Amino acid sequence: AKGAGKGTWQRYRNDLHSAMVERLALRTALHEAVDAEQFVLQYQPIVDVRTQIVVGVESLVRWQHPDRGLLSPYHFIELAEENGAIVGIGEWVLRESLRQFAQWRAAGSTLRYISVNVSARQFRQPGFVDKVRAALSESGSRPEWLLLEITESLVLRDAEQVWADLETLRAVGVRIAIDDFGTGYSSLSYLRQMPVDVLKIDKSFIDDILASKQQRALVNAIVTLARNLDLTVVAEGIEHADQRAMLARMGCPYGQGYLFSRPVWPDDVPALTAAIVAG
Ligand code: C2E
Ligand code: CA
Ligand code: CA
Ligand code: CA
Repeated sequence: AKGAGKGTWQRYRNDLHSAMVERLALRTALHEAVDAEQFVLQYQPIVDVRTQIVVGVESLVRWQHPDRGLLSPYHFIELAEENGAIVGIGEWVLRESLRQFAQWRAAGSTLRYISVNVSARQFRQPGFVDKVRAALSESGSRPEWLLLEITESLVLRDAEQVWADLETLRAVGVRIAIDDFGTGYSSLSYLRQMPVDVLKIDKSFIDDILASKQQRALVNAIVTLARNLDLTVVAEGIEHADQRAMLARMGCPYGQGYLFSRPVWPDDVPALTAAIVAG
């Protein structure tokens, strides 16, 4: 029994060790991955909940790792935030998203906008607003085509500089979304003052929208409040037709989720835009 215990411990230590080595290897590789052009983007449609017409797309980064294959952001975004690589990755994502979007528009796409995730660390980097301006003009994009997704905690922390930058971006014509809305700490009364345009209601609220009366009431309250504050709403993570129907009844204008489409490669976006997705 003692021997078995020791074996388990040894295995545990080995696992722990290899997990640490793996993290360390990824962490080091992250810094070189931008220059090595190892990041790629997929795009997920954002649709009108009522008509299911595609109105925009969100760009989602993946790491095409030379040995480990296609890695989801869950494997590296947190590491990249810790070691600062997220700044370079985020800048590439912004430029590439706008380049791609401008190309679709030039080819006649009816897409209204592209939604781009921005990490707090990237947003707080000095010169962020100028980088957004540069990415817009380099790609020949109109500011109205760009929606930046930020987190609740960013809007609440460092209020002064962040709010000033948000105001500048909005004055230019760029819109701002709060991602994963409802999972943070912003009070609903504070929402009135926040320099933002769109709330993306987190998937966790949508998951239980049919089973839980409380959850339904909460989503309904957010949708109603948003409408009265002239904010747009996107419900995230819609997987089932009855969730869509419920959200449509509540008057939730926009949605995103596997029901409509998973994130797809750039070549598949034009066809998705043209189709009215069944569901
Ligand atoms: P997010 O911004 O909340 O993006 C939505 C995530 O939910 C995406 O995962 C998407 O594929 C997934 N999703 C969409 N619809 C459904 C659904 O119906 N069911 C389920 N189960 N999942 C759904 P993904 O692409 O793995 O991205 C994960 C997170 O990584 C993102 O969450 C975002 O926080 C972060 N991320 C992705 N790309 C970037 C980026 O370019 N920059 C930064 N800073 N973060 C990024
Ligand atoms: Ca997002
Ligand atoms: Ca989200
Ligand atoms: Ca999320």
